[in-house]
Amino acid sequence: MTASSINLPVKVLERGWDVIVCGGGTAGTIAGIAAARAGASVLVVEALGSVGGSGTNAQVTPLMRNVSAGVNLNRGLTDELKRRLNERGDGGTDANGNDNWFNPEGMKYVLERMLLESGAELLYHTHVVAPVMEGERIAGIIVHNKGGLQQLRAAVFIDATGDADLAVLAGVPTYSGDDDGIHQAMSLRFALAGVDLARLNAFLGPLGQGSSDPAFLHFWMVWEKGSRLEPLFHEAVSRGTLLERDGDYFQAFSVPGRPNELSFNCPRIRADLNDGTDPWTLTGAQIDGREGIERLIAFCRESLPGCEAAYLGAYAPMVGIRETRRIQGDYLLTLDDILECRTFPDAVCRNHYPVDIHTVRAREKLQHTRTGDAPYFRPDAYHEIPYRALLPVGVQNLLVPGRSASATFEAQSAIRVQQNCHSMGEAAGLAAAIAAHLHGGDVRALDAGELRLRLRALGANV
Ligand SMILES: Cc1cc2nc3c(=O)[nH]c(=O)nc-3n(C[C@H](O)[C@H](O)[C@H](O)COP(=O)(O)OP(=O)(O)OC[C@H]3O[C@@H](n4cnc5c(N)ncnc54)[C@H](O)[C@@H]3O)c2cc1C
Repeated sequence: MTASSINLPVKVLERGWDVIVCGGGTAGTIAGIAAARAGASVLVVEALGSVGGSGTNAQVTPLMRNVSAGVNLNRGLTDELKRRLNERGDGGTDANGNDNWFNPEGMKYVLERMLLESGAELLYHTHVVAPVMEGERIAGIIVHNKGGLQQLRAAVFIDATGDADLAVLAGVPTYSGDDDGIHQAMSLRFALAGVDLARLNAFLGPLGQGSSDPAFLHFWMVWEKGSRLEPLFHEAVSRGTLLERDGDYFQAFSVPGRPNELSFNCPRIRADLNDGTDPWTLTGAQIDGREGIERLIAFCRESLPGCEAAYLGAYAPMVGIRETRRIQGDYLLTLDDILECRTFPDAVCRNHYPVDIHTVRAREKLQHTRTGDAPYFRPDAYHEIPYRALLPVGVQNLLVPGRSASATFEAQSAIRVQQNCHSMGEAAGLAAAIAAHLHGGDVRALDAGELRLRLRALGANV
């Protein structure tokens, strides 16, 4: 029997929605909230059993700072989210005003509440598997879950899967990886529990990595980047606790609301396991990541005071994927746009986070550093992301916010951070609601100036 001979029944649901969001992740959940608050009927379809995507299920616990001239560039729903996390003790603000770290479990709850309070509906444990095309329009999507295959209808779709899963099946051309098709490294994040943060902080202080408040602790080591933890890594490699590649990237953060835990932005996955859209690679990455976590926990217990009795709190359910497919959109954001601080009449997001490529090319010097002469490196600089970067070519009623928006490899590495995904999601959600109500779902028919005014009225910094 060949796959094409399988004829499975598809249940066609009678009811439809104004907007269906595919993927309830960082951008998708915010898009769902924004669309529902704008009066649209909204369904968010999510593969896992909680929202938040990479932020929660890959345990990416810091919202990376995106500040220009002392002002956070992402406002609107991001502000509300942070406020609600802080009120629960699942976020916090350090002495320097950093209010960007969060407890991923608290984030799941807060995002889910915000989504349901907005009136949006949620469908968990459901995979989006295919679009149903009518010319250049997506008339519906086929999803798969415990109920089998179902067809769901909407006027507008938002592909927030992070991998442009729906867009690519709708025929949208995509870019993937760098010029050689090599992607950024994946990491399997984990939580280390049973840590005495005060003792660890006292140890790190003289090594230049302590914090005035152990509740906001951040430390790191990357070979040859000047971390004074490097000798400990050399020793651990010599005695066989660590592999050489474990020092390609090591980083840990404390977590608000979890007083004895650290969240690790590592281990980095083996370089040959690189494509986050290949299920075999993803499986290999989970397995490789767990082996790496064994080594890192042993290293922490042996070498870091305060971690002697530490134990595995949790593996991130999802391996962390930094970059896979990026859509070809009506506008392709480039490195030049970033370095020259380009602004756009249809801008929906502002960014000052730098080009940040986690390369798998061992110890290769990155082409783009965090400093230079370009206008972008001024402390008050920023560039903008146009609405057109969310519009995939060739499809009338689809928006793609988040890490798959239309950008080159270098540009994506700067705009992919969570708060930008929020802002892109908020813009996509509002635009989808407007397109569904006023323009028969055509996401290009709306006035981008009007969209910006409405985003501004909601507190967005555009
Ligand atoms: C290891 C790592 C460290 C990072 N560090 C930071 C950091 O410190 N700070 C920061 O701000 N950013 C960081 N980032 C970047 C940031 O976390 C991501 O770029 C961002 O969260 C991506 O958001 P997204 O909405 O595009 O995708 P996601 O948040 O990944 O959401 C995609 C969602 O779609 C769902 N989904 C996927 N396919 C389907 C399907 N077919 N059907 C249904 N649902 C589907 C997924 O389950 C998921 O919930 C990091 C990323 C990684 C991987």
